[in-house]
Amino acid sequence: MEVNEGDYVEVITEKGNFKGVLLPKPKFSDEDIVIIKLDNGYNIGVIPKEIKLIKKAEKREKKKKLKIEKKNLPTVSIIGTGGTIASYIDYSTGAVHPAMSAEDFMYAVPEINDEANIRANLVFNILSEDMKPEYWIKIAREIKKESEKSEGIVIPHGTDTMSYTAAALTFMFPKLSLPVVLVGSQRSSDRPSSDAYMNLLSAVKVAKTDLGEVVVVMHATSSDDYCHIHRGTRVRKMHTSRRDAFKSVNSKPLGEVRDEVKFYGKYKKRDEEIELMDKMDEKVALIYYYPGMSEEHMEYVLENVDGAIIMGTGLGHVASNLVPLLRREIRDGKVIGMTSQCLHGRVNLNVYSTGRNLKSAGVIPLGDMLPEVAYVKLMWLLGNYDREKVKELLPVNLRGEIEKRRFLE
Ligand code: ASP
Repeated sequence: MEVNEGDYVEVITEKGNFKGVLLPKPKFSDEDIVIIKLDNGYNIGVIPKEIKLIKKAEKREKKKKLKIEKKNLPTVSIIGTGGTIASYIDYSTGAVHPAMSAEDFMYAVPEINDEANIRANLVFNILSEDMKPEYWIKIAREIKKESEKSEGIVIPHGTDTMSYTAAALTFMFPKLSLPVVLVGSQRSSDRPSSDAYMNLLSAVKVAKTDLGEVVVVMHATSSDDYCHIHRGTRVRKMHTSRRDAFKSVNSKPLGEVRDEVKFYGKYKKRDEEIELMDKMDEKVALIYYYPGMSEEHMEYVLENVDGAIIMGTGLGHVASNLVPLLRREIRDGKVIGMTSQCLHGRVNLNVYSTGRNLKSAGVIPLGDMLPEVAYVKLMWLLGNYDREKVKELLPVNLRGEIEKRRFLE
């Protein structure tokens, strides 16, 4: 008998018999495996050669709808953007597809229903490598709209560029009257080792606190023990696949989520109102310097932009033959900031002669700011202020993105 994805089946193997929904082959892996969602909610994977027989079995009852409204709970808005975390199992068909409504999220992680009344809507359904500045703006406007109806915002997002979105939202809201929590998962929820469940539940808990910042909530370790809360301007994806891929760089996480949310130290509390400055100048480049980079290449990149962030080597360097070009570009009105490929530590343009020359050419050293954060910050500054103000504000701490400027820089 032929069986299809979504059928309720019985699988007979040498190791035992299993009943459950036949799931599609995992979208995010190429393992040759047959996956069954058992009645207890767990998935098991069976290697095809171990299967003696697979046949349709009697269907179990479809889940009843979950009740949404609970008077004593705060309201949390989920603004979906796609990514792995937005894939979920539809219990009736077994298909994996992006969450589209509040109820979908509630089926995937029913416990969020005990934490808050969930309002959910989907603004995009994309993998985050396809994210772009115009989408950041759309998300920011959605946050502002939802802030009138709820006490916290959760944004499920693909992990690849989640830190760029976190930084962009941080700069766009000089005042924030509620927590904005970005959350993702490294493994889709159709895999037994998925981190989607704990991350989403933890994110909803953070969205109920008195926090007034944009943060990222993800697994703190590779086990399912707790999550970290990272500041939106300090966080980075530091591993391609580990569940604890997200780390705060050049600073500590703001706190953790186990059963309860615990902040380690100071954090910004909710403002009384929300203020959105959502202009972004997209004509900004993020340039990774490499040995051998030609003047032509650097010039080509700088030609069509209003500003650029360079990821230099070590303390913040590029080859000395590029310095005259940078000097000319800066004289012509471009804003150029220097960060480091090392990621950890601060740039310092006072130590080596190249650094000193870069500084005298007008390159702005950006302390311990992460390159992506500097890139997003420059877009936001150029979108909202004149050039002189941009140059003044770029190296100054606005949202926890840079430790105080030291006199040596
Ligand atoms: N490539 C995916 C994305 O960033 C990975 C993920 O969702 O975690 O959207």
